[in-house]
Amino acid sequence: LSTAAAAEEPITPPVQINYTKLLINGQFVNSASGKTFPTLDPRTGDVIAHVAEGDVEDVNRAVSAARKAFDEGPWPKMTAYERSRILLRFADLVEKHSDELAALETWDNGKTYEQAAKGELPLFVRLFHYYAGWADKIHGLTVPADGPYHVQTLHEPIGVAGQIVPWNFPLIMFAWKVGPALACGNTIVLKTAEQTPLTALYVAKLFHEAGLPPGVLNIVSGFGPTVGAAIASHMDVDKLAFTGSTATGKVVLQLAAKSNLKSVTLELGGKSPFIVCEDADVDKAVELAHSALFFNQGQCCCAGSRTFVHEHIYDEFLEKSKARAMRRIVGDPFKSGVEQGPQIDAVQFEKILRYIRSGIESKATLECGGGRLGSKGFYIQPTVFSNVQDDMLIAQDEIFGPVQSILKFNDLRDVIKRANATQYGLAAGVFTNNVDTANTLSRALRAGTVWVNCFDVFDAAIPFGGYKMSGIGREKGIYSLSNYLQVKAVVTPLKNPAW
Ligand code: NAD
Repeated sequence: LSTAAAAEEPITPPVQINYTKLLINGQFVNSASGKTFPTLDPRTGDVIAHVAEGDVEDVNRAVSAARKAFDEGPWPKMTAYERSRILLRFADLVEKHSDELAALETWDNGKTYEQAAKGELPLFVRLFHYYAGWADKIHGLTVPADGPYHVQTLHEPIGVAGQIVPWNFPLIMFAWKVGPALACGNTIVLKTAEQTPLTALYVAKLFHEAGLPPGVLNIVSGFGPTVGAAIASHMDVDKLAFTGSTATGKVVLQLAAKSNLKSVTLELGGKSPFIVCEDADVDKAVELAHSALFFNQGQCCCAGSRTFVHEHIYDEFLEKSKARAMRRIVGDPFKSGVEQGPQIDAVQFEKILRYIRSGIESKATLECGGGRLGSKGFYIQPTVFSNVQDDMLIAQDEIFGPVQSILKFNDLRDVIKRANATQYGLAAGVFTNNVDTANTLSRALRAGTVWVNCFDVFDAAIPFGGYKMSGIGREKGIYSLSNYLQVKAVVTPLKNPAW
């Protein structure tokens, strides 16, 4: 975003805003209070639309609708095949409306249109096809117990699932939560992030067109301490799934414990290491480490935000990483070829700039970037720090922005210890041509995902989740189903065991 580009008018998004109300019991409705809140365009800070602002009373209404849809059906009582058909029809409708949805996601979030259209919308569709495939393949076991008993397990939906999602991947987070919950026969009350309420409402409309019965999916837009806390502490919500910061994860876990001990899955923050070994092809490693950090404006829970580089290739790696960051194209995310759009909002923008100042004050070397770009919106220069030490704040905290920290190492044992020395354990990247090094690191790193010679591979079938304070449970893949199922043991005496 050169000064000239910054002065250009933002491109007009090719999409209308049609859905801004709460979705309760299959109807778009105003909030009980009649209040609304603005959702902003991160390119300018201007208002895109005013959205109905939910509160406790709206959560109560949404939970009642979800409860009724669960207890009285038809959703959990339909055949699994019928549920699967609805999920498939929904995915096909989303595919048909992909262009508008990608535009809406870009407008509300600031991510590039190319990423939304070519990456996230196809993945969204794939995720729902994947979960549609599971719906009629969920079944229990027969258990060889001691004694004359016939024992079987039934895998049943838990009930009403409360789901709270963040703003960095609004549609993908929707799919990770809603897909498995519905495939397993649960009903849902979902809270979107206050920064990005629009695309979930749009796809919810398509879900109803696809035949989803009323009350199965309810969406209450609004803020964390009101809507989010009401869901987490609701006595009639049976399950809570949350993605966001570790600090808020602790709050919702306490609310769940203090209310009805609903079961909780958490997908939280990270400070993922990306380890570049001595034998790595430097050019390839530079490119991968760059995208591992800068992808989605650096707003990824699994961002490779500690780039550890072996001392023998450190200088070359550093020069090339700096050059790559300086070549990164930042600008209007609707413009073709742009790699980086604005950060989500003023709060994150200021927070990232504070971390950059902290890096400078703690004597890391600022190689490039370090400030805002342009004079409006929330654009930040791609920033690279070298000479980063493990105890610096920029090497410990989740910055959630386009700030790469490069650290030097000389010994595998040492880098394992350092890579593991944070409160987080979400993901890790390993770059090496040596299969033994790859195997050693994959086993030694305390992280829910280890990407070897790749990064950010988010296939629907691959489980994702955190060790340590990065979370509880796994989303995606076969493992995600257990988040939304109860196991019931049914024990029946056998009258004639010898037969
Ligand atoms: P957050 O954790 O506060 O927000 C995530 C979701 O939780 C949002 O829907 C929010 O409204 C809701 N929430 C907030 N307070 C709540 C409460 N008391 N009870 C129930 N729900 C509540 O995250 P944030 O403020 O948007 O971002 C802060 C930091 O969190 C970021 O800088 C980043 O480090 C991290 N973050 C991580 C992820 C991730 O995918 N792991 C996503 C977004 C943000």
